[in-house]
Amino acid sequence: MDTVIYKQHIDKIIENIEKARLHVSPHHIVKIVAVSKYSDEEAIKSLYEIGQRAFAENKVQDLKIKSQSLDELPLEWHFIGNLQKNKINQLIATAPSLFQSLDSLELALALQKRLEKNSQNIDALLQINSAKEESKSGATPEMAEDIYVQIKESCPNINLRGVMSIGAYTDRESEIQKSFEITHSIYEHLKDATICSMGMSGDYELAIRCGSNMVRLGSVMFPR
Ligand SMILES: *Cc1c(COP(=O)(O)O)cnc(C)c1O
Repeated sequence: MDTVIYKQHIDKIIENIEKARLHVSPHHIVKIVAVSKYSDEEAIKSLYEIGQRAFAENKVQDLKIKSQSLDELPLEWHFIGNLQKNKINQLIATAPSLFQSLDSLELALALQKRLEKNSQNIDALLQINSAKEESKSGATPEMAEDIYVQIKESCPNINLRGVMSIGAYTDRESEIQKSFEITHSIYEHLKDATICSMGMSGDYELAIRCGSNMVRLGSVMFPR
């Protein structure tokens, strides 16, 4: 895509975010994380050149390859995928800025062991399965607060910064909204949490109006 047109396209997204965030409060700041999982290094560079700094991948291998090959750029890398225990070492070797998809106490304990061994820390979000969908991982809304507190208490090398959730998989806006409201209300109950990561290409404006302060945008940021 032509650079001028691409910049206009991104400006339009920023404008949409601006409108949605003002709906919450003039002090409500939203961070855009560009999800580059379907995009190559050239596309990431193009977005970097018009100002984007935070990028996310959902496979450890892709995170490793892309973050290494773009090492000369001052980028911030997030991990947003399912983490299998046998990939923990690989993930922490990439030293991501934020591990957004920590989805259980069991995984947290395994991660803690590894971090301790390496004298390393990681910033993370607890993923919540607020729509209770079988296809998704994450803590149930009922258990989320307990699990969050347990991780804080038993995993000193994991800095929990807040929560992450994927909106309900449906066309019905009221149900998507409900799933965001559930996550946001858990977020508000947590002590010291500062990040509520909700909203993707199809539902980010709604997510922000429900209180999200971090959106994970893939297809809209990388139009084909
Ligand atoms: C792929 C993905 C996104 C981005 O999806 P789009 O609909 O392309 O914006 C956001 N969050 C997670 C966890 C994802 O896996």
